[in-house]
Amino acid sequence: MSKKVSAMLAALLSFAVVLGGCGTENLEVKVTPGNSPETSEKTPEDTANQQEVVEEKVDVTQEIVTEQVVTTEETTVLTEEVTQEVVTEQTEKPETEAPVTEKVTEPPVVTETQAPQEQQTEVFYEQEVEPTYINGILVVNKTYPLPESYAPGELTSDTYSAFKKMAADAYAEGLNLWVQSGYRSYSLQKDLYNRYVASDGQAAADTYSARPGHSEHQSGLAFDLNSISDSFADTAEGQWVAENCHKYGFIVRYPKSKEHITGYKYEPWHLRYLGVETATAVYESGLCLEEYLGITSEYSY
Ligand SMILES: [Zn+2]
Repeated sequence: MSKKVSAMLAALLSFAVVLGGCGTENLEVKVTPGNSPETSEKTPEDTANQQEVVEEKVDVTQEIVTEQVVTTEETTVLTEEVTQEVVTEQTEKPETEAPVTEKVTEPPVVTETQAPQEQQTEVFYEQEVEPTYINGILVVNKTYPLPESYAPGELTSDTYSAFKKMAADAYAEGLNLWVQSGYRSYSLQKDLYNRYVASDGQAAADTYSARPGHSEHQSGLAFDLNSISDSFADTAEGQWVAENCHKYGFIVRYPKSKEHITGYKYEPWHLRYLGVETATAVYESGLCLEEYLGITSEYSY
């Protein structure tokens, strides 16, 4: 009984499904002509037109948006001009996301592009003024400057103890030696040089005063003896120093007739500490330090 009932129910259900599928199709066909032909024809066309309008609006807005993005990109590229690739990539991100935020990011981008340019010059300058050692000798002249940060603050202990020994030996012979001018900071040399330039002009000042960073006095390895005067060479102290200072590790740094090589006029009072061995070798060579090391002493600016 149950099998027959279920079989009958299944047959009825399948027939109902078939009827259902056909019924809906028949209903549409029947209903459509039932309505007025005008309304029935307009309805799909209107929807299509509306869709087209909507699509057109969307297209227009999209075009406008893309155009805006393009123009903003172009303007930013023009204003930035030479910008590093990394910076440009950073600016492209906010541009594609939203032009409004891109406006906000513009000022910091400009400052970022300006900052590296300044840093590059600073870095280049510092590379130029690294202390130069040739054969273990710290060279300070018109070609090789010291950085502003190079500041021992006083004569080095080796320099000062060598001077005391020399002064003691000279004193034993009845001669008085004293340090007229020892260590000079970068800023002090800057003030001195600018004062000389103001009074004598730069060309004259360059013959007797070092530009800031180019003075051996900043190294703590050089000092001026007694009187800063040409007459010092003719004094007993001056003559003794010229003949004996190398025994204590010093050289007369700017000898006579070497002005075109050292870049400075004869300075019998200015001594440079090199250590006894090197100072003696330089003294016996008859060369100035630039000749001895095969280097120049000329400003590049
Ligand atoms: Zn000096």
